Amino acid sequence: MSDRERSFWGWGYVDEHPSDDEIRALGNSLEERFDFPELTLEPRPSLEAMSAPPTDLSVPSDLEGVATTDEAARIRHTYGDAYRDKVRALRGDFAAAPDVVARPTDEDDIADLLEWASAEGVAVVPFGGGTSVVGGVEGDVPGEFAGVVSLDMREMDAVLEVDDVSRAARIQAGTMGPQIQDQLRDHGFQLRHYPQSYEFSTLGGWLATHAGGHFATQYTHIDDFVESVRMVAPAGTVETRRVAASGAGPDPNHFVLGSEGALGVITEAWMQVQPRPDHRSRATVHFDDFDAAVAATREIAQARLAPANCRLLDSNESYLFQVDDSGAHLLVLGFESTDHPTESDMERALEICAGHGGDCPRGALYGSPDDDEDSPENRWRRAFIEAPYLWDGFVRLGVIFDTFETATTWDRFPALHEAIYDQVSAAMDRACGTGYLSCRFTHVYPDGPAPYYTFLAPADRGRELEQWREIKATASEVLMDHGATITHHHAVGRVHQEWYARESRDFQDTLRAVKGVFDPAGVMNPGVLVE
Ligand SMILES: Cc1cc2nc3c(=O)[nH]c(=O)nc-3n(C[C@H](O)[C@H](O)[C@H](O)COP(=O)(O)OP(=O)(O)OC[C@H]3O[C@@H](n4cnc5c(N)ncnc54)[C@H](O)[C@@H]3O)c2cc1C
Repeated sequence: MSDRERSFWGWGYVDEHPSDDEIRALGNSLEERFDFPELTLEPRPSLEAMSAPPTDLSVPSDLEGVATTDEAARIRHTYGDAYRDKVRALRGDFAAAPDVVARPTDEDDIADLLEWASAEGVAVVPFGGGTSVVGGVEGDVPGEFAGVVSLDMREMDAVLEVDDVSRAARIQAGTMGPQIQDQLRDHGFQLRHYPQSYEFSTLGGWLATHAGGHFATQYTHIDDFVESVRMVAPAGTVETRRVAASGAGPDPNHFVLGSEGALGVITEAWMQVQPRPDHRSRATVHFDDFDAAVAATREIAQARLAPANCRLLDSNESYLFQVDDSGAHLLVLGFESTDHPTESDMERALEICAGHGGDCPRGALYGSPDDDEDSPENRWRRAFIEAPYLWDGFVRLGVIFDTFETATTWDRFPALHEAIYDQVSAAMDRACGTGYLSCRFTHVYPDGPAPYYTFLAPADRGRELEQWREIKATASEVLMDHGATITHHHAVGRVHQEWYARESRDFQDTLRAVKGVFDPAGVMNPGVLVE
C-alpha cells in the first residue's frame, strides 16, 4: 500500500486535497452559479482532536498480532465515504467506532477471528477500501453485541495466479484497483473495471456490493468478470467452481456477490482479464431535447452496439461538472476493442443520434483519449476523477452534496424522471430553501437505463443530516413508487436497508435462512441486507 497519508474523514490522499483558498473559490462559484446564500468555510478536522469511546474488548492472545485497539485506527475505520459520514466526522462524532481493528494476513486468521467473534457475540464488519457510500462499513450495529470488530482486508493484496490461456487471474480480495493494475501489467492484462472510487476500493468491496465500473454496457457490474469466488464464513469456507458458465442449479456465485459482508468474508476470486484495448473511439453528441437524447440512447443500447461509454448527461449535469454550459444534453460515447477498429460501431451510433436530432460538432475522435485535453469527453473524465476531492469541500462549506442511483425500464423512465425532478426539488426547497438537481445515465441496458442523480443544497449547520434525510427519503420513496430499484450499484448498506426490505420482501425469509446457514450466530455485518 502507498505510504502517502489517507484522509481520516474524507476522500483520498491528504496531499491532493484542495487548499482552503480553492475551496473558498468553489463556494463563491456555487453562490454565483446556483444562487446559494453566502457560504462560509469550516476548518478542516484534525485527527488529533478526535476521540472514540473507550473500549475494553480484548482479542484472544493468538489473534493479538493481527488486531489493534489503537484509537486512530478505530477512528479511521468508523465510516465510509458518504456525505453523512463526512458530516459526522466533521462534527467529531465517532460514537460508532469499532472496538477493534483486525488486519488478517490469510484465511486462517479470518477463520480464527470469526470463530472467536461467533463464540463471544462480537459483530464483525468487513472493511475493504472503506469507500462505501451507504453505511456499509460502520459499526453502528443493532442488538446486543459484546463489541464490534472492523475486519480490514488490505493485507491480502496480491494477484496470486494468472491463466494466460483462459485470460483469468486469481486475485485476493483486499487488492485495491491500482494494485491490481500494477500486478497484472507484467502479464499484459487488465481487469478493466474502473468505478469512480477505483483508486481506493478493493476487489472484495466491489464483489460484495455489485460495483459498477466504467463500461456503460455489457460488463456493467463487477459480477460480469467473475469466474469463481471464495468466502470464509463463520460456518466454514465456500468456493465456487471455476468454469466459464454453468447450468447447474441456482448460480452459487450469487450467494456471495452482493452479500455486503453479511454472510462471510470474501477472500479471493478468479476474474476474467483482458489486454489493454488498442482500438478506441469517442464522441460527444449534443441534443436540444432531453427526450430525443433518451430515445437515441435507447436505440443505441437496443442495437447492441455495446459502447464502452454511453453516458447521457442532462443539461444540469453538464453545467454542474462544467463540461458544457450551452443548455444542451450531452451523450458521451466511446468504443473500445482489443481486437478490431471501432469506427463502424461509432459511425452507426452517430447515425442513430443524428436520426434523433443529435449533433456531433467535433466529430468522432479515434486514438488515445489524452490527445485532446479540452474535448468535452476529457473535461468529463477529469471532472469525474477530481470531483471526490471537492466533495469534502462542499461539506466544509455547509453544502449538502450527495447522489442516488437506480435502474428502471425504458417505458417507466419518463414518469420516474419527472417525479424525481418534481419531488426531490420540492424536498430541497422545503428542507433548505433551494437546491440543484442533475442526472446522468451511468449504465444502459437494452431494456432500461441506470439513472444517477446528484443533488446539492445549502444546509443549516448542525441540522444538515436532518435536511439530508428529508431529501434522501423523498428520493427513495419516489423510486419505490415507480417500481425502480433502491440501488443499481451503490449497494444497500445501512442507508438503504429500509427500502431494500420493501423491495425484497418476498425474499427476506430466504435471505434470513441463507444467513442462518453461513452465519449461525448472526455476527456478520448486522443490520445490513437481513432485517
Ligand atoms: C467518490 C466515490 C465514487 C464511487 N464510485 C463508484 C462507482 O463508480 N461504482 C460503484 O459501484 N461504486 C462507487 N462508489 C461506492 C464504493 O466505492 C463501492 O461500493 C465499492 O465497491 C466499495 O469498495 P470498498 O473496497 O471500498 O469496500 P468497503 O466500502 O470497504 O465495503 C463495502 C461493503 O462491502 C463489504 N466488504 C468489503 N470487503 C469485503 C470482503 N472482502 N468480503 C465481504 N464483504 C466485504 C463491507 O462490509 C461493506 O458492506 C463510490 C464511492 C465514492 C466515495
